[in-house]
Amino acid sequence: MRPVALLGGTFDPIHNAHLRVAWEAAEFLGAAVRLVPASVPPHRRQPVADAERRAALVRAALAGQGLLTLDTRELHRDGPSYTVDTLLELRDEIGAECPLVLLVGADAFAGLPEWHRWRELFDLAHIGVLTRPGHGGVLPTELRTKIASRRCSDPRFVHEAPAGRVIAVPVTPLEISATQVRALLAAGREPRWLVPDALFADPRLLDAYRAADADVQE
Ligand code: ATP
Repeated sequence: MRPVALLGGTFDPIHNAHLRVAWEAAEFLGAAVRLVPASVPPHRRQPVADAERRAALVRAALAGQGLLTLDTRELHRDGPSYTVDTLLELRDEIGAECPLVLLVGADAFAGLPEWHRWRELFDLAHIGVLTRPGHGGVLPTELRTKIASRRCSDPRFVHEAPAGRVIAVPVTPLEISATQVRALLAAGREPRWLVPDALFADPRLLDAYRAADADVQE
């Protein structure tokens, strides 16, 4: 069974590093990757563009290929977007047997014990830690203990069980951030080649960022 993987984020806006890591994770794991924009991210400041606009940008960015798809389920949910709720919903849809992988950046992974009901995540999915040189913090003791017997490096283990493993997913380091893209747009410049060309096809797609106050871009 082909694993389903998900990459959550604000995607405010989506950029080439998001796309590239999602693509590399899909290839490495042999998985179909869903990009899941968060409507109200619980861990950080509110996005500059509203949920519909951010989803429209992801849709435009993904045109022309079939390995990565947009999943809008968190946009239709009231209240904070908790990953545990998203995984519960997805697990219901894909059934108990299909491997499910939650993709997280190495920095975010180190902060996992602050996430809502974090221990349950391991029962619902594997965790694919997007690993690039120079990123990733020291893991807190409770997390290290939790994952000690779960770590693996071969994607075969992910195919053999529906959930429970922690696997490092090597990705090409690309120093692009949505913060940088927003700052360029707010300054009246074009983030060419940091975001896919498709985002320039309709000038209205990026308007929310051009109009935003530069002070709220950081
Ligand atoms: P911001 O600059 O607004 O904080 P961001 O560029 O980090 O945003 P997010 O929407 O927060 O984008 O990221 C979504 C997911 O993509 C996260 O799991 C994050 O770790 C990952 N990600 C973001 N940028 C990169 C990058 N340059 N390389 C690898 N992974 C990335």
